[in-house]
Amino acid sequence: MTGGKVNPFASRLASFADVLAKKGLDAALVFKQANVNALTGVDCDNACLLVSKEKVALFTDFRYIPAVERTAPWLKVGDIRKLSGKSPFTMRGVKLGKVGFESTIPHSQYLSLGKSLPGASLVDVSADIAGLRSVKTDAEIDAMRAAAKLNDEIWSEASGSFRAGMTEKDMARAIKRLMIDRGDGESFETIVCVGKNAAECHHVPDGTAWNGREPVLVDMGVRLGGYCSDMTRNIVPARPSRLYRKVYSLVLEANMRAIAAVKPGMATDALDAVARRFLAKNGFGKAFGHSLGHGVGIEIHEAPWAAKKKKTVLEPGMVITIEPGVYLPGNLGVRIEDIVVVTKDGCEVMSHSSKDGGF
Ligand code: ZN
Ligand code: ZN
Repeated sequence: MTGGKVNPFASRLASFADVLAKKGLDAALVFKQANVNALTGVDCDNACLLVSKEKVALFTDFRYIPAVERTAPWLKVGDIRKLSGKSPFTMRGVKLGKVGFESTIPHSQYLSLGKSLPGASLVDVSADIAGLRSVKTDAEIDAMRAAAKLNDEIWSEASGSFRAGMTEKDMARAIKRLMIDRGDGESFETIVCVGKNAAECHHVPDGTAWNGREPVLVDMGVRLGGYCSDMTRNIVPARPSRLYRKVYSLVLEANMRAIAAVKPGMATDALDAVARRFLAKNGFGKAFGHSLGHGVGIEIHEAPWAAKKKKTVLEPGMVITIEPGVYLPGNLGVRIEDIVVVTKDGCEVMSHSSKDGGF
């Protein structure tokens, strides 16, 4: 996201300040790169964002100060080195009661944070920030639509260039090259699985060559404008085995049933169950070993989680993947993954690549 005189995430930042007030926190210190980015639009790997009722300030080192001033002129910027083991509060002699922090920071950073805030109690706000991030702004949804569209175009061009004799690595490299040329690179390392390698759902592409007749599973996501995309498609052979055809049809139906079920107010475990029950009823429950989907945004995996026992209630603006899969070790694997954004009365599918399998 590009910055300006106004913070493009001002409403998210205001909601975060409300969370702090509700929890009785005097302030919060945010360190995680993606969280700082989602609250300010500043993307840098050495920053501390201070949020309190009175002020918002970002501390970073001299390498990033010019970029922060350029992209987020509304933001007060300080030199992180001047803090040297102290917090911005103790520097000014302010005594604090409760301070929000992210429990996901490294332990060493947690210890020094505690030392820098003598007398203050630290309260975890990671889940609160994740919740705020899970509902995308209109500008973020536009950015994600553009990333998904580019991902579709890259899949179409890359898959059209696949030939018998190419290895999984060759195919993954062809996709990566297009992502670097047309976008900002990969959201994650592209997964290419030839034949039975697809039974391993996060198989690392190797030297296995494609004979042109086996199925190929590809899980790919280009990064564009600071946002990730994520999609899984399969090259279905002209004459698939009966088992492959059956599994493919069931996974596709599970994917479409789940997409049809998405609506605001639904809990994410209930959404997961739509696909899971359908596959179980058809004898493939145990072969669907992962959760149905995950949120996507600045990070490839973020809240909400469409999984068993995860009870996030879907809201308009949430972006999640719908990716049921069936994996039969030594034999085959099929996963079909789309990215959707929850709307007022259902969802909009952002992935448009064909998934009919040709039958
Ligand atoms: Zn994926
Ligand atoms: Zn995914």
